[in-house]
Amino acid sequence: MAVVSMNELLRPAFDERYGVPAFNIVNDLTMAAVLEAAVQSNSPVIVQVSVKTVKMFGAKLLQKMFEEMASRAPIPATLHLDHCPDVPMIKTCLDAGWNSVLFDASKLTYEDNLRQTREVVAMARKVGAAVEGELEAVRGVEDGIGSDVEGGIVPLDKCVEFLEQTGIDSFAPAIGTAHGLYKSAPKINFERVREIVTAFPVPIVLHGGTGLSDDVFKRLIAEGCAKVNVSTMLKITYCDAYREYLDAKPQERDPLKVMASVKDKLVPMVKGFMEIFGCVGKAEMAVHTHG
Ligand SMILES: [Zn+2]
Repeated sequence: MAVVSMNELLRPAFDERYGVPAFNIVNDLTMAAVLEAAVQSNSPVIVQVSVKTVKMFGAKLLQKMFEEMASRAPIPATLHLDHCPDVPMIKTCLDAGWNSVLFDASKLTYEDNLRQTREVVAMARKVGAAVEGELEAVRGVEDGIGSDVEGGIVPLDKCVEFLEQTGIDSFAPAIGTAHGLYKSAPKINFERVREIVTAFPVPIVLHGGTGLSDDVFKRLIAEGCAKVNVSTMLKITYCDAYREYLDAKPQERDPLKVMASVKDKLVPMVKGFMEIFGCVGKAEMAVHTHG
């Protein structure tokens, strides 16, 4: 099974209303932990990578690492580039065999976003990859990209026009969620997800998953959020796990032991989100759509 297209994961999730988690991995250890959690949960999973991480390791190495690890995992997985405003970098990832990209043109005008997203979709189609599109900036800064100021909301008819004319495979509208940690309880716009999928049935992407309540996740997934992004919680779990282990054992000098203990903290964290998102046991769904 192993590596599948983004649409093979998202279409059944959207139809059945469960969420496929997308975790922003930062290296081999976190990639392995995310895949292991998916295997233990018999869940589909999206291995997602931020631009900053791609710049550190290179698109080709990350793709090879993913392909090798995913080929050994008996669950469907796909490799996705998160928030990328840079078309040459998107091309580099697509050429390296990535399965999906988020073209983040939310800083451009509507017309420029539409035109450039269409170009990115055409580029992705040539290699059988998927494109996530974004019209409004998701609040909060993610790895140096974004802003704390909430952008304007694009009217529904313009959203539908954007979806029709770009042909994007999934859509990330601003729905009140934010990157990073929430300083106060977010005001979630459930109605907006419903309006968009009613007008145009496209899998919606939920950004800023860290810190939302189980209830908010479940309601948003029921409305049509089929891809659920979690980044901050992985970073926190990863760093805290190192800190706690080394604080408790300051004389430890065996890196493999430290890494194993960090992985032991990551796997249950990922599995916990899978429980909430309703994707546990859904690994076979992606295969069925494949025919
Ligand atoms: Zn995001």
